Amino acid sequence: MTFEAPLALPPATDQATFKRFLTRVAEVVGRENIQVVTSKDELEDGSYHNQPYTHDPHHILDQDHFIASAVVCPRSVPEVQDLVKLANEFNIPIWPVSIGRNSGYGGAAPRLRGSIVVDLGKHIRRILEVNVEGAYAVVEPGVTFADLHQYLVEHNLKDKLWIDVPDLGGGSVLGNAMERGVGYTPYGDHWMMHCGMEVVLPNGELMRTGMGAMPEPRKAGTVPGRLDEEPGNKCWQLFPYGFGPYNDGIFSQSNLGIATKMGIWLMPNPGGYQSYLITVPKEEDLRKAVDIIRPLRLQMVLQNVPTIRHILLDAAVLGSKASYTSTQGPLGDEELDAIAKKLNLGRWNFYGALYGPEPTRTALWGVIKQAFSSIEGVKFFFPEDIKENCVLHTRHKTLQGIPTFDELKWIDWIPNGAHLFFSPISKVSGEDAMLQYSVTKKRVIESGLDFIGTFTVGMREMHHIVCIVFNRKDEDAKRRAHSLIKILIADCAAHGWGEYRTHLALMDQIAGTYNWNNNILMRFNETIKNALDPKGILAPGKNGIWPTNYARTTHKL
Ligand code: ADP
Repeated sequence: MTFEAPLALPPATDQATFKRFLTRVAEVVGRENIQVVTSKDELEDGSYHNQPYTHDPHHILDQDHFIASAVVCPRSVPEVQDLVKLANEFNIPIWPVSIGRNSGYGGAAPRLRGSIVVDLGKHIRRILEVNVEGAYAVVEPGVTFADLHQYLVEHNLKDKLWIDVPDLGGGSVLGNAMERGVGYTPYGDHWMMHCGMEVVLPNGELMRTGMGAMPEPRKAGTVPGRLDEEPGNKCWQLFPYGFGPYNDGIFSQSNLGIATKMGIWLMPNPGGYQSYLITVPKEEDLRKAVDIIRPLRLQMVLQNVPTIRHILLDAAVLGSKASYTSTQGPLGDEELDAIAKKLNLGRWNFYGALYGPEPTRTALWGVIKQAFSSIEGVKFFFPEDIKENCVLHTRHKTLQGIPTFDELKWIDWIPNGAHLFFSPISKVSGEDAMLQYSVTKKRVIESGLDFIGTFTVGMREMHHIVCIVFNRKDEDAKRRAHSLIKILIADCAAHGWGEYRTHLALMDQIAGTYNWNNNILMRFNETIKNALDPKGILAPGKNGIWPTNYARTTHKL
């Protein structure tokens, strides 16, 4: 079998070993399921709907910095297991992805240059079960939010069950939960809502977590079949913890296993729904708004994961910067007010929804309206109040779990738009939110960019998502965006704020900020990593965790 030389070999691997490895891999997955990345000319940034598996399309460093040596698409769980065993035999690093979009956090690219990207989603993409009575689904890595939603529509199940979606519907349900991504219905915390996993361990063994560790008794007369096809325990998707240490957490944002199945709780159709928008006119009213939100969210008067969006995030969904102004640098207060006026929005725009029958919704809406009315100049809208195309019409779908792709548009705020997310956690406190906003906005503006961001309100905290939009064809703009995020991480750490998730290029720096008691958390993670993956084949460097055979000092960014 012939394989061309890759553009980037894995570290400490020669060409001959790499070819022998791929020859053995081809015996497992078929030659047609292996693509060697041979030259820079092959790297296409593609688009959201046509995402590359070779590199990060939103490259903040050189396009070929975080790059795969080859992309391999296994067709089944046993093939994943065999691939992992071969990676151990040949000491080759592998990087699993489910769908590989991972927009703003590195796409499908591996942290370690030359790793093999394992594209699980191409073939392993069944919806294994949708259980109406238990209100859950069991999915494989390649099932997207749009797929799961479509399944409910096609099976006439929408009146029974809803899913939760992030801003864009093309990601993997399983992959997004693994990264602890969020959506906006009451089930918005995807990791919280997952229940039971099947994982290929770094030695190639297959494990089921929680109640899945208890075998479902075999029916009399049946013979054991393939391990991964065995029916799961009847409570696997009903009780997450099982018996003994709760292990699922160590597989999220980590490099300790390849998830091949996951249970995800679905929301029973609440029997009524109303989305809304509350516009808040002044910048400094963020403080008041957040203090109003905290008790309402805690008491679940605010039932879902609502968002407080900066005017420019909404403006960017509706048009490019050039469509509003000829100003090149960051927009000032007057220009922001003018845009807000034009769009009939506030400096901050709060998107939420009411769930339940009409009397429930009316009662909750009364409380919410009254609370927000203490802010001067707030306005309240339902989608039906607005005729022209607006963000509320998109959020109306998102907040009831209908996938959309409209929010892709804000990336085109500037020409050749690409983006990077900076995502610190904030208290749900007016003072903290205002300070975090001011600290981050100052740095964004200093680096010549517009502040575009949103606060996503969880049960007791907010994910503050700052969208750093840059021109991917302008090397200087990329450098500035990269240096900006490094400064933001340091500034926020100085205030005791840490990020919930990050792009490949920042994993080491952020991991370094979670350093209480002489980095005990990292030392603990490394101990587990080295015990479970002694050859360090699985996603070395993921979230700053480097196995001993890849010295952090050599690879750290
Ligand atoms: P998206 O759903 O946005 O397309 P990806 O499939 O790219 O996301 O997954 C994002 C990240 O999550 C990957 O880079 C990888 O680190 C991790 N991940 C995704 N799927 C798996 C999996 N099945 N097993 C282990 N880690 C995974």
